[in-house]
Amino acid sequence: MKTIHDTFGGISSRADGLCALRPAMPQGFMDATMLARVAEVVRDFGLPGIRATGAQRVELYGIAPEVVDAVARRIGDLDGACPFMLTLCLGRVQCDKGLQDTRAMAARLEAVLKERTGMGVRPKFGVSGCPRGCGQSYVRDVGLLGDAKGWTLLFGGSAGRKARPGQTVAKGLDADAVLSCTGRILDFFSANVKKGERAAGFVERVGMDAVRHAAGIATP
Ligand code: SF4
Repeated sequence: MKTIHDTFGGISSRADGLCALRPAMPQGFMDATMLARVAEVVRDFGLPGIRATGAQRVELYGIAPEVVDAVARRIGDLDGACPFMLTLCLGRVQCDKGLQDTRAMAARLEAVLKERTGMGVRPKFGVSGCPRGCGQSYVRDVGLLGDAKGWTLLFGGSAGRKARPGQTVAKGLDADAVLSCTGRILDFFSANVKKGERAAGFVERVGMDAVRHAAGIATP
């Protein structure tokens, strides 16, 4: 059964004792129906407004704990919610520099991720339609960069205190290869990661050759 955490990608209590909810925004988009519903909920519950998060989501904040369930019910159980943080750029369809379709890739990636909601780790993903990396691909645990030949898959990026770009797992992958490699890497990561460790620290500890091997990619 889908939980409130799955639907909203987290429910957080703040220092002020109030809560925040982040409704699903598949591939970072929200249609008119959902926008209207969010506006109604903000108005009807007297919330201060919404906040744009760094992960391309809308956050309803300032929710008293006693009404958070009611707010969640009004927002609704949104089929298609992906509990992983996945950011993407406009890609080929909407950016004149784009070389690959980021929305199509993100939709397929979300399907792979939903099969792994119980894996115990929540890596962050970035998908960009060209090597400029506007979808934060270089600093996510798993990053994808489109080019004329397909996709480059990165692993181990971090935007945190020890910021660093992810390292290349493989280049020139088609969409099917991206999904199979990513799935194998996530299975390897979740089976071997230490508590509190993110992908960047994991790569430091086990090495990129081990990650490539798990992905089924020959070491260059
Ligand atoms: S990464 Fe490339 S395709 Fe994506 S928004 Fe930036 S310039 Fe456009």
